[in-house]
Amino acid sequence: MFDKKPVLNKKSEPRIVTDKSKAGLFKRTIMRVAVPSETPKMFEKILIANRGEIALRIQRTCREMGIKTVAIHSEADADAKYVKLADESVCIGPAPSSLSYLNIPAIISAAEVTDAQAIHPGYGFLSENADFAERVEKSGFVFIGPRPETIRMMGDKVSAKIAMIKAGVPCVPGVEGALPDDPAAISAIARSIGYPVIIKASGGGGGRGMRVVHTEAALQTAVSMTRNEAQVAFNNPTVYMEKFLENPRHIEFQIMADSYGNAVYLGERDCSMQRRHQKILEEAPAPLLNTKLRDKIGERCAEACRKIGYRGVGTFEFLFENNEFFFIEMNTRLQVEHPVSEFITGIDIVQQQIRIAAGEKLGFRQKDIEFKGHAIECRINAEHPFKFTPSPGRITTWHPPGGPGIRVDSHVYTNYFVPPHYDSMIGKIIAYGSTRDQALARMRTALSEMVVGGIETNIQLHQELMQDAAFMQGGTSIHYLEHKLAKRAKGF
Ligand code: ADP
Repeated sequence: MFDKKPVLNKKSEPRIVTDKSKAGLFKRTIMRVAVPSETPKMFEKILIANRGEIALRIQRTCREMGIKTVAIHSEADADAKYVKLADESVCIGPAPSSLSYLNIPAIISAAEVTDAQAIHPGYGFLSENADFAERVEKSGFVFIGPRPETIRMMGDKVSAKIAMIKAGVPCVPGVEGALPDDPAAISAIARSIGYPVIIKASGGGGGRGMRVVHTEAALQTAVSMTRNEAQVAFNNPTVYMEKFLENPRHIEFQIMADSYGNAVYLGERDCSMQRRHQKILEEAPAPLLNTKLRDKIGERCAEACRKIGYRGVGTFEFLFENNEFFFIEMNTRLQVEHPVSEFITGIDIVQQQIRIAAGEKLGFRQKDIEFKGHAIECRINAEHPFKFTPSPGRITTWHPPGGPGIRVDSHVYTNYFVPPHYDSMIGKIIAYGSTRDQALARMRTALSEMVVGGIETNIQLHQELMQDAAFMQGGTSIHYLEHKLAKRAKGF
């Protein structure tokens, strides 16, 4: 398996490199979309339209289920472990994502030439691109995710919020719908919400396209600047306004729903430890959260899925302040932090995602899901632990940790070259314990065992966080890490 020699293609046309019997068979094979039936047929082959640790993670579940996998990769990822381990691999273009992992025609052609039946988008890249999901389905493949129209509705934050209000999910107080053009009307809305307010781009994502406004004097300029930025960045000038919550936590609910109206929640995750709106570590369950309130909001999320006819796995993101939940957005895909929910429920989320896409009914009900123990995930990034400058390059030593309750999801190995073209995350360590204290203790040991040479990583930052008094107590807000880093930079 490791002796396969990937053939690189200089153009961005896909080139199959294994399963030679099918190479050159660029003819369309009409695939059948899995129509839910009494006994749905499981896929025989899935194309994984992603890279890195998540490509390997999806592949592992496919293998466990007896499903063959097709890895796609850019020229920069030709030697990656998940490419060599996949049953087949296709080079879909040069290193830049726009020419490879975001190249829709190349990905669809790769599925065609390998006779894959379904496409798993992973996270990031095209995973929340409704046009991609539509193209996948129109080309006769199954998209392992929600229906394109659901992705579209949830990708537009104004329509998502309207749908959630209708479905009874508590939202951040604000105006329902987009902001009007009339400055007087905008001022009146801000006054009725009460300062500070936040102006957000309807098409925004990745923590971009948001502006906080503290006074009426700053309002009109902030609205027009956000509109202009939104037009340039997201090709959509629509903005909306809501109350700016000053010290919230970020708590999100994992849900899954089948095509038959069954929906469940897999508990919540606390993802408040963030820098520049990017999560650094996550845990489940959220510390100090009342379980009655958790079940109430979880049930609301599941009910919302039933109401909107959601299919697949997904996450409802909330801000949590003064013991109240406020919906901010829904992610219609698998999340980086899904392993912490897998640990506390014992459910393989990727396996369920594949089963749902194949037309199966959920095999369990809410009452069958038990939340047990505590799990923490540290994202290991190739970057300076405190300056956050990216640190791509060759990994000269790689000693991942192990032991009871430790899971390492990573695609890297000694002598692996971290390419500079993509996200800096090189893996995740997930620690499970019967209590939060045990999970923390195991994570401390895991971090101390881990050795990564040749590049810089943020392991030291995680080690400091695992000893941080406020984090150890639990319940820190989304601003905690930035404040801690600012103090640290000043030397006190
Ligand atoms: P994106 O899709 O860009 O990630 P979100 O709506 O999920 O945008 O918001 C990202 C982050 O911005 C949140 O995790 C939170 O830190 C901050 N944020 C968003 N809305 C508010 C709000 N109303 N009040 C305070 N902070 C907010």
